[in-house]
Formats: sequence, structure tokens, C-alpha cells
Amino acid sequence: MEELTRLTLHEARRRLDAGEITSVQLTEAFLKRIKSVDSKLHAYLTVTNDLALEQAHAADAKLRQGQSKQPMLGLPIALKDVLSTKGIRTTCGSKFLENYVPPWDGTAVSRLRKAGAVFLGKTNTDEFAMGSSTENSAYGPTRNPWSLEHVPGGSSGGSAAAVAADECLAALGTDTGGSVRQPASFTGIVGLKPTYGLVSRYGLVAFASSLDQIGPLTKDVQDAALLLDAIAGHDPRDSTSAPRIAPTFAASLEENARVEGLRLGVPTEWMSEGLHPEVARSVQAAIQKFEGLGATVREIALPMSRYAIPIYYILAPAEASANLARYDGVRYGLRVGGADEIFEMLARNREAGFGPEVKRRIMLGTYALSAGYQDAYYKKAQSARTLLKEEFDRAFEQVDLIIGPTAPSPAFRLGEHANDPLAMYLEDIYTIPVNLAGLPAISLPCGFAGELPIGLQLIAPAWQEERLLGAAYRYEQATEWHKQRPKWVSAPER
Ligand code: GLN
Repeated sequence: MEELTRLTLHEARRRLDAGEITSVQLTEAFLKRIKSVDSKLHAYLTVTNDLALEQAHAADAKLRQGQSKQPMLGLPIALKDVLSTKGIRTTCGSKFLENYVPPWDGTAVSRLRKAGAVFLGKTNTDEFAMGSSTENSAYGPTRNPWSLEHVPGGSSGGSAAAVAADECLAALGTDTGGSVRQPASFTGIVGLKPTYGLVSRYGLVAFASSLDQIGPLTKDVQDAALLLDAIAGHDPRDSTSAPRIAPTFAASLEENARVEGLRLGVPTEWMSEGLHPEVARSVQAAIQKFEGLGATVREIALPMSRYAIPIYYILAPAEASANLARYDGVRYGLRVGGADEIFEMLARNREAGFGPEVKRRIMLGTYALSAGYQDAYYKKAQSARTLLKEEFDRAFEQVDLIIGPTAPSPAFRLGEHANDPLAMYLEDIYTIPVNLAGLPAISLPCGFAGELPIGLQLIAPAWQEERLLGAAYRYEQATEWHKQRPKWVSAPER
């Protein structure tokens, strides 16, 4: 049964539809897999055994009746623990929400439920998605399946590790500054951050509302398209959800799988200083591969992108400081007691419930928004964000896609950035500009530095997911990187 966990979403779909396997078999294989490997990896915060089996039985009943029209019917997946799930504990990696069980599903989750998916559980995350390693989770870090000494990236590190270690077919993560793409790059899988507004944020616990997007973490590009199909599209419950009809990404993948004649831009600034030599080498090789497939490549300039991290660390904490005001122990979450009056009580709850990184962000954001500093910091960062976006607009007058690294280095060691938040912030140097400009981007496996995977990033103009997925799919078909598996988890079990 073990090899069932190696399947992709699309392979499992085919085998379920052909009656070769059942959803219960598939689900049981994953639950067994989680039991045998997750004590080492800690990808999951909550495993929903009973729910998964119940959903799998229901799916099998429908499959037997030949009602297999629901695209996700019977497919076991995992959800990052910042996604609101009805009746399933949703902690956001925070002590504050240790016992919080939401009374409702977010839109992406309810769409997956309606599409027949099986929920295996909720995955580990940096507290409120603030981080790049999962080390900021109040429940302890996740480990990288390729090397247990290394982080899986973050903040969607639990989802990424679960996919890479075959603990689910695919997973959802969220990306505010790189949290889907960077963990995908660190764990050798595919991670897609959609255009801002393509996927509803309703029921995604807010970190920085103008940047947050939900995205798929999958074993290949076809799976990313399938999962995006299931969650994309307008939602009246999210005022920032775009009122447009989402294309069907999986169905148009073959037809868009063209690189011939595509104009690719390589940002000069991203391929120079600060890039790990093995990452530079693998990304160069990938660029040549694209040229070999018929793309034309030119250098482009994105000089504003060097301000992306300072812009982000004003705007994201500013938004976070407002969004996290609701965690006070009255409306939500932890109440520690022992206080004589209201302000003391709120302060005590927040002191006990939040970890150091969340407190740091709230202080940064509150400061940037305070009277007298708002113009100097918040408004200036907003203006700079607009300039950065315009720079991308100009670049896309000359090229169809931008290509470069996802992260400046392969996975780092646990604890390596523990006392240096700025070094941790720099991990997102190539991913944050994309969120600030609201663009879609994908990370694909493109090589290794020793045993650790390396990710290639492709960025498209807004709403050009079809072009993005098509080019990614073509590259994937011409390479073998996505077929590599971590040795430790592929070793036969005793
Ligand atoms: N690492 C970035 C941060 O800490 C981005 C996180 C994210 O995308 N959720 O804010």
C-alpha cells in the first residue's frame, strides 16, 4: 500500500476514476504514513483521522455510483493551520488560539469540501504566518524531509514538508511575502502564489490583508493547476476578490505548454551579490534549458526591488498590528486571569499568548502607524510600493515572464537565524517584490546543492496564470528534478 502515497493528485484521480483504488485505501495509506514519519518531521499540528475516513467513505460511495464529476472527489490533502476550518481546531501556530475551533469554513476550504476532497489535517506554520522557517510556531518547528537538521522553509513549512514526504497528495499554504514559494523551493516541490484577488481570502486568518494569498503546494505543475481550479474564482464575501471568471487552468495546461518564442527577463540585480553559488548555477542552467526550448532571454532592470524588504517590513507589520488587535482574550483566544482591570487583562493575555516575532511585528507596525510617523514611514512605503509595481509593469512591456531564483540559498539549518531576524527577513528578497506588486509566481524544483533542493521562480503579469503554468509545465516535462525524492522518506519502512 505504501506506494499509494507517492501518487500525484492527477494520477490518484485517474486511478480512483478507473476503480483501481478506493479513497479509503488512499486515505488509510496516508494516515499510516503520517503515523510513521510525522513524529520526526512534525508537519502536522492536527491530524483529522475520523473526518478523513468519513469523507473517504462518502467519496467511495459516490465513485461507485459513477458520480465522479467532482474534481477533488476522494483526494486526501492537507491545509495550513491559518485556514479557518469548521469544527477543526485552527491554531495559526499560536498559543493564543490553542483551543480555537472555528464555527465556519473559509471559502477555499468550503470549495474543496464541496469538490469532494478528503482532509487529512492542519499543517504547522510560523505563528500567524510570520516567518521563513516554521521555527516561529508555538508548537515547535517542522523539519525538512531532505535533511532533518534543516528547516523546510516557512511559513507554510508544514504543508511543504507534508507534500515532500508523501504525507498528503497536495496541500494549501498561504503566501504574504513568499510563504508558499520559499518552502516549496526548500523541499523540492511546486508552490504557486496566485495573482492577488484570484483566490478568496475569506476565512484565511489575516496577517497582511493587502498581500495575503492562498496557494497550492504540490508534487508537480499539473497538480498545482488542478488545485488552483478548485479554489479560484470570485467570492462576494471577500471585497478584494476580483469579479472575474477564473479560467480552467488544468484543462488548458497542454495547450499553454509553450516556451517557443516566449520572452524571458532575468533581473540583473537578482543574479549577482548575495546569491548562493549553487543556486546561481542551477538557475543559470534552468535559464539555458528554457533557451533550448525556444525562449529568448534578456536582462531586465528591477532597481526598486532592492527596497522591497524595507517596504514590506513597514506595510506588513502595519497591517498585522491592526489585524491582530482582535486577539485580546475577550473576542478571541487565551485568557490568563489575575488582572484587576481591563487594560491589565488585555496586556496579560497578549503578553502570554503571542511569541516574540509576533510581538516584534505588532510593535513595528504600531510605530509605523503612530501619529507623527505615519507620513514618514507608512505613506512613504505605500508610495515606494507603487513605484515598484510600475517597474514590474514596464518590465512586462518587454518580456512575457520573469525568471530567477526563488530564494537566495538552499534550506538553512535549524537555529541558524535564531538570533538574527534581519538575516531571516532577507530570505524573502526575491519573493516579496511579487506580493507587493500583486503578481502570480511559481517555484519549481531546478537542482540540488548537495542533498538540498533548489527552486526556480517564474513570475507573470497579473492574471496570466495560464502562461505561467504553461511555461512551468513545459520546463517540468523537459527535466527530471520534480521526480527526485528525499532518501530518508523513500527508504522502505520496517
Ligand atoms: N517570511 C515573510 C514574513 O515573515 C513572509 C511570510 C509569509 O509569506 N507569510 O513575513
